[in-house]
Amino acid sequence: LFAQNCEFVWAADKIDGLPPMGPLEIAFAGRSNVGKSSLLNALTTRKTLARTSHTPGRTQQLNFFDLGPEPAAPLLRLVDMPGYGYAAVSKEKIANWTRLMKDFLRGRATLARVFVLIDGRHGVKDVDHEMLTALDQAALSYQVVLTKRDEVKKSLVDKTLDDARRALSKHPAAHPDVIFLSSHSGESVEDLRAAVVRLMSE
Ligand code: GDP
Repeated sequence: LFAQNCEFVWAADKIDGLPPMGPLEIAFAGRSNVGKSSLLNALTTRKTLARTSHTPGRTQQLNFFDLGPEPAAPLLRLVDMPGYGYAAVSKEKIANWTRLMKDFLRGRATLARVFVLIDGRHGVKDVDHEMLTALDQAALSYQVVLTKRDEVKKSLVDKTLDDARRALSKHPAAHPDVIFLSSHSGESVEDLRAAVVRLMSE
């Protein structure tokens, strides 16, 4: 699946600009700089699917990518949500972002799961809790993915996972499995692919 054709199909910065619902969707959210672009590229084995940016907070839109044997017959749609928690963004932009995100999460019947990326070096921060609370309220399936595993000492991997699970106990709607991966080394990216494939067969 992930080695198949993958095409950018749509960008939306307001709710009435969303693409019509089509294939099953999985969305990716996370703080700016969490490694979301890198993960989308690693997941789809593309180098430049999602632009890896060193200017966090720049993209304020939802980007849609279709995966499948050919563009006309997509099997899965990836939704790249704009990064949150970037201090230099204006209040107005944050308000727009929040509205777009909530509208999208509420009204999207084809959205199978939101993967919330959290930097494994930093753990679950207040802004992440806000995002998770919004997801609790939207009554959506969501799962936490810790990133940058290669930056965390092997001896601390289990503790990092335990801490994240403990932080998630505040969020009863969170999927109990936490994935801890590295886009750079590729470690455990397969666990995410497996989770996606399971969703597609449900
Ligand atoms: P985004 O803002 O969430 O899209 O994050 P990017 O994918 O642009 O990555 C932000 C920074 O984190 C870049 O400097 C990446 O090289 C780095 N990064 C992303 N994934 C990993 C990873 O798995 N390991 C390490 N060590 N760094 C990563």
